[in-house]
Amino acid sequence: MYSAGKRTHASPAPPLAVMSDAVAPRTMSSRAAGPAGESGKSEQSGAGQAHPASAGVVVIGGGVIGCSIAWYLTELGCSDVVLLERRSLGCGTTWHSQGLVGLVRPDPAMTRLALRTNEALPELEARTGLSTGFRRPGTLVCASSEARRRALDGLAKRQAALGIGIHAIDVDEVHERWPLLETSDLAGAFFMPDEGQTNPLDTVLAYAKAAKIGGATVLENTAVTGVVIRDGRVAGVEYGVGESARVIACERVVLAGGIWSREFAARSGIALPVLPVEQSYFVTEPVPGIVPGLPILRDYHEDILVREDGGRLTVGATHERERPWAVDGVPAGFCFDELPSDPETFEPMLEKIVQRIPILADVGLRATLTGPECVSADARYLLGEHPSIAGYFVATGMSGVGVGSSGGIGHAMAQWIVTGRRPDGLASLDVARFTAADAELGTLLKRVSAAAGSVFDIDAAALPTTA
Ligand SMILES: Cc1cc2nc3c(=O)[nH]c(=O)nc-3n(C[C@H](O)[C@H](O)[C@H](O)COP(=O)(O)OP(=O)(O)OC[C@H]3O[C@@H](n4cnc5c(N)ncnc54)[C@H](O)[C@@H]3O)c2cc1C
Repeated sequence: MYSAGKRTHASPAPPLAVMSDAVAPRTMSSRAAGPAGESGKSEQSGAGQAHPASAGVVVIGGGVIGCSIAWYLTELGCSDVVLLERRSLGCGTTWHSQGLVGLVRPDPAMTRLALRTNEALPELEARTGLSTGFRRPGTLVCASSEARRRALDGLAKRQAALGIGIHAIDVDEVHERWPLLETSDLAGAFFMPDEGQTNPLDTVLAYAKAAKIGGATVLENTAVTGVVIRDGRVAGVEYGVGESARVIACERVVLAGGIWSREFAARSGIALPVLPVEQSYFVTEPVPGIVPGLPILRDYHEDILVREDGGRLTVGATHERERPWAVDGVPAGFCFDELPSDPETFEPMLEKIVQRIPILADVGLRATLTGPECVSADARYLLGEHPSIAGYFVATGMSGVGVGSSGGIGHAMAQWIVTGRRPDGLASLDVARFTAADAELGTLLKRVSAAAGSVFDIDAAALPTTA
């Protein structure tokens, strides 16, 4: 990988076609097709499936969040749920994900949603018979100074109040759990047995299948062009162009549009304080001595985040400065696309990771991956009914950790939509906490750049509240 700051493996990273299974997108039958109402090339929607004229709820967006919401709506007895995806399920941000289901979050509400996801993913496999790749290898957390060890000790106490196990382990146990780790500089280490990982694309497909089993209609290649609003209430959604333009009458919509959410909501006069931001990770070649089932490895203070996948390691890379992307609108046709990876993003992490896992000095870099993620002004999710339009729900601003909360968000949003009341404990994530001024672009650019990444700030993590 890198040896004394020098790359020893061919660069740049190989194109997706030769990337590992861990990061290459699944080929989907509809992948090459154009979305109705987006490029104008295709007005064929949903591969010829019949489109309902009305629905109880329409979910806009077939990423991990929209598909989970659709499933949980059917679990609560709504069978007239329609999910519309502009291209292919998972083709936005979801397929990029490293798939970690982390429990340590800056807000206890987010932690509870992640805990619920930990339960949801095994339920999902049982319901659909599809493997999501979900497992709980646990997380080994390193502290490389006494101050950091004390910070983790404090974190452990706060997490315990939320029902999350995290306990100190000695150096022998560190070696047992992660034999390739350099430990001479460690001041302490902790283990969290319940953190997990999943395969994002398998997970989104399983959510969609569960929704269909529950009676939902899931249509790909169907771009929603607008929400029909009458007297301040949702009255339907529009899709298609020209003569193939159609309306589905409905009183409730959920916008789960990821990086498209800001521009889509603006069409209805809703200003959402979210922006796409670049996020990255890299994948190594097979690492000698790596055994399947290795725990996730974290150093919160050094931003180290490593997951084992089929004998390779995927390593999260933080940007020196979080970079907003496509603030004037996501390019038309964006589908399973990745962004150019800037080598400078990876250099600092490559050096850090070789210090912690020295064998990586002799291991090749298989691929780098950079994708856009929808980050909110405070790095917390935007959930719930927008105060300006009755029946217009949103579930967006996943800020780098949406896969890991997908089950909890689907569960909570379905309750919110069906009962019309915010479930307990979600005040800090309610979209109503923001005003239109928060979404003004100049302010938002600054806030989002600062907020991105703070989702892993353990000093802010999880002080219990009951709001
Ligand atoms: C490099 C990287 C690594 C990551 N690693 C992790 C991780 O380890 N753990 C974790 O929890 N999270 C991780 N994330 C974040 C996670 O991937 C996202 O939070 C999550 O996938 C967001 O899901 P979503 O459904 O909100 O958005 P998306 O997956 O983008 O789905 C939105 C969907 O809406 C569709 N859509 C948009 N507009 C319309 C319209 N008008 N009509 C119809 N459909 C529309 C889009 O086509 C898209 O499919 C990572 C992200 C990146 C970029």
